[in-house]
Amino acid sequence: MTSLPLIPIAPDAPAARRAAMPPRHLADLDLAGRQALVTELGEPAFRAKQISTHYFGRLVRDPAGMTDLPAATRDRLAGALLPTLLTPVRELACDDGATRKALWRLHDGSLVESVLMGYPDRVTVCISSQAGCGMACPFCATGQAGLTRNLSTAEIVDQAVYLAGVAASGAVAGSPPRLSHVVFMGMGEPLANYSRVIAAIRRLVAPAPDGLGLSQRHITVSTVGLVPAMRRLASEDLSVTLALSLHAPDDELRDELVPVNQRWKVAEVLDAAWDYAAQTGRRVSIEYAMIKDVNDQPWRADLLGRLLAGKLTHVNLIPLNPTPGSRWDASPKPVEREFVRRLRAAGVSTTVRDTRGREIDGACGQLAAAEDNDTDAPQEATA
Ligand code: SAH
Repeated sequence: MTSLPLIPIAPDAPAARRAAMPPRHLADLDLAGRQALVTELGEPAFRAKQISTHYFGRLVRDPAGMTDLPAATRDRLAGALLPTLLTPVRELACDDGATRKALWRLHDGSLVESVLMGYPDRVTVCISSQAGCGMACPFCATGQAGLTRNLSTAEIVDQAVYLAGVAASGAVAGSPPRLSHVVFMGMGEPLANYSRVIAAIRRLVAPAPDGLGLSQRHITVSTVGLVPAMRRLASEDLSVTLALSLHAPDDELRDELVPVNQRWKVAEVLDAAWDYAAQTGRRVSIEYAMIKDVNDQPWRADLLGRLLAGKLTHVNLIPLNPTPGSRWDASPKPVEREFVRRLRAAGVSTTVRDTRGREIDGACGQLAAAEDNDTDAPQEATA
């Protein structure tokens, strides 16, 4: 690459703010906020708990299914608290139904994706935090189209609630019916939509009926490395898992692959990652897409090994999922194996991510989740 793309770095950038946000939804508010709103609407406060129990506890999103609410109340509350945020456009399944990708249309016509992945011991959803993305990573399909807008808190949460309902219906054969893990690895840069993503995480971890009741450590936030936002995340009372999309151990190449590196260099971003690990006690996951003859050289494995040795970290190598028209390809398996060998020789815990959902479209590989970052159930390396 000769010219480097310019990227908007400011969180909640003006262009994103101007774009049309969706109507308010109960998942935008915590339980106290819902109670205040319900009271304003002239209903008793306990209705907030009732409707929240349907949504978060029973995963009922359609007001028609909330039959314990009087019809008039239901209409009034549904109008104010349950607008339709996500309209399914397409749902695709692969891996014998264990992987399901959903494409949604939002109220303004924007399209976003989520993926549901079933495993014998867990169910994971991979969700989007923005329509499009402003980070301009040249190997990523979402990065090519630019940012349309930030998603609202409820648009983020509703992806998980919808797919939790799909899982609860038994649609993912051979997996538990209960959603357990959420990864912010769909479209968008979560830390560029900071306040809404944090509010969404709070909804995901709050016990029902306030929220979905997931465990904090089962939530993974993946970032290109917005250093001030990483530091802010470390100061929240949340210990979610942080994944850093590194993709190169040297500034020269990372400036090209992850253009935000022009602002925050490898050393700075890793410092912020180690501070996050120290603050939360959580192992930081380093994401590294293996791109043939671009970032897969043995010397880069050795350099990466030196940067990571002795740290509270784990490397996920992701075979590149080539985007349409891309000049780049995935590294050959023997090259990948040598890369893994060198990292492990440096004492760095390393796995190669499985490529769930490849045949249900290009973006799926990039949406594939960080299954392997969970210390409860480390995934076997495929290399
Ligand atoms: N913006 C966040 C989350 C988005 S994508 C981030 O960059 O971390 C989740 C992961 O998929 C990131 O590590 C991203 O770099 C990676 N990815 C994107 N496109 C890919 C592709 N074509 N092949 C493999 N991994 C890809």
